[in-house]
Amino acid sequence: MRRSLHLKLMLIMILLIVSLMVVVGAFLMNSVTRYYISDFYSRMASAFGQDNVDFVRDLQTATEGERRSDGAAMIETVLAAYGGMLGVDGRDRNYFVLDGVTGQYLAGSAPEPEGGMSVTPNITTAILGQPGYASSAAADYMDVAVPITRGEQPYIVYILDNRVTAQSLNREMFTLIIEASMLGLIISILLSVLLSKTMVSPLQRLTDGLEKAAEGDFSKKLEVTSNDEIGQLTDSFNAMAKRLQTTIAEVENERNKLDTLFLHMADGVVAFDRQRKVIHANPAAAQLLGLGFGPQDRYDRLFGGLFPFSQVAEADSHLSAQLTVAGRYLELLLAPFARANQGGVLVLIHDVTEQRTAEQTRKDFVANVSHELRTPLTNIKSYAETLADGVGDLPTATAQRFLGVILNESDRMIHILQDLLTLSKFDSGRSELRLTSFPFIRAVDDTYQAVLMEAQNHRHDLRLSMPPYLPFVVADRERVMQVMMNIVSNAIKYTPDGGRIVISAGASAGKVWMEVDDNGIGIPASDREHIFERFYRVDKARSRQSGGTGLGLAIAQEIMAQHKGQIFLVDKDEPGLTVRMELPIGGPGRGGSCEEE
Ligand code: ADP
Repeated sequence: MRRSLHLKLMLIMILLIVSLMVVVGAFLMNSVTRYYISDFYSRMASAFGQDNVDFVRDLQTATEGERRSDGAAMIETVLAAYGGMLGVDGRDRNYFVLDGVTGQYLAGSAPEPEGGMSVTPNITTAILGQPGYASSAAADYMDVAVPITRGEQPYIVYILDNRVTAQSLNREMFTLIIEASMLGLIISILLSVLLSKTMVSPLQRLTDGLEKAAEGDFSKKLEVTSNDEIGQLTDSFNAMAKRLQTTIAEVENERNKLDTLFLHMADGVVAFDRQRKVIHANPAAAQLLGLGFGPQDRYDRLFGGLFPFSQVAEADSHLSAQLTVAGRYLELLLAPFARANQGGVLVLIHDVTEQRTAEQTRKDFVANVSHELRTPLTNIKSYAETLADGVGDLPTATAQRFLGVILNESDRMIHILQDLLTLSKFDSGRSELRLTSFPFIRAVDDTYQAVLMEAQNHRHDLRLSMPPYLPFVVADRERVMQVMMNIVSNAIKYTPDGGRIVISAGASAGKVWMEVDDNGIGIPASDREHIFERFYRVDKARSRQSGGTGLGLAIAQEIMAQHKGQIFLVDKDEPGLTVRMELPIGGPGRGGSCEEE
């Protein structure tokens, strides 16, 4: 930039100087020539005019009564006398005496030119008897021819100037102008260098700064070296660069925040430009849709089946749609952004599988609760009605049997309601653990003792297998016992009479565990993953018959989760079922109160 501006400046100055010199030179040279010509003719006019009567009279009288050659000599003598007045120098300006009829050379301050005197228009005018003063700008000479006709013989006094003086003057002036031009050129080059230093250098610095700013580098503040327009421009640039830097930093910050948000948010976001191409897609979007996004991916392939692009782009607010991908329920929100030419369409993907599942679970739960309560209620109602209808008629034994059923069913309802209440406490987080440190081995043994009689009633072979010592455990003893009782009672319930049930316990890696293994009816593979769900029962009739609510294992799982322990089914090849529970020795770590037993 510097070089080109410098060159331009220099060229302009050279052109200025050259054109100035050409104009001035032409004007001067023309003026000199014109002055020289006009000086010559005015001098001649005054010499041969009325102002100079002596000269003209001397010339006229010089020829009277003389012969042709003598007359010429006489005229020459007069001319020689007046040579100074005529400016005759014998080199460039000469006088001649010519024959008044033929224009031939007779005498003069210079010898006759080779090839004879040329007869100029002025000589022709003089031959015709009139003085010839005509000048021609094109001619390379100036002349005046004056006829002398007093005597017999006519003569012509002819003054001829070859303009050499004017030409040499012009030549000198030309040389002078060329020299002045050269000087002017040198000055102009020097000036352009100076100008480039004072004007172009700050501009260059400004340009460098602008180039750097265009590349995003605002770090360098430009030095303000003058108070002129360039200084003000540099100042404004510095202020603008500072503001731009702050704004860019803010925008970048915002973008980084958004990028981080997009990257880590659970909802998927896909943005399309006006050309329907993907301009942004976060990992969640790819994961939810089970797709990998490329820049060539287009709206139509991905979401064209839901709404046409134009419909979304022109929508007043957003459009909603639902999709099921790989068993997950997705809620889609499609909305236009920045409707100007720059805008596009944004698709927000929200995974609602959990809400849907929770909603379904809630509905199933309500249905199950209603069903579970309706059965005993129906029984109670029908037995109560029969009792009411047959008051006095029914035999006492039958009435007592009916009342027994009513009591049983009421107990069952209370049992169900108690279990539901326990679960509801877990769900709402209102269930606090009462943590104590107690010997795990005692809890297992107590459970064994509690169910021993029942097991014997069913002729089961109930065994207890554990090491002589197990560590203390921090837990809610009552709840842990509830879980143990549930597992062992189930084993007794779901094992045909005369079965074999083994309760074992142990400790390893900071945990204590208890396992109950039976050789009962077991659980089909397809049901295994469900048996910890609420109200899930493999055989509903059998479960009800044995007083089960289908909530025992669900409650057991909640209790174990609260203790940061777990309960699960152990795979085994033999018939029957093995259920295992594990507890961390140190307790759940937070929540609950801990008392020494
Ligand atoms: P329930 O009150 O019906 O026993 P649970 O939640 O304790 O409810 O058990 C859920 C279901 O798991 C039972 O209905 C039964 O079908 C099955 N089950 C539990 N333990 C055993 C076991 N030891 N053998 C076979 N099936 C079992």
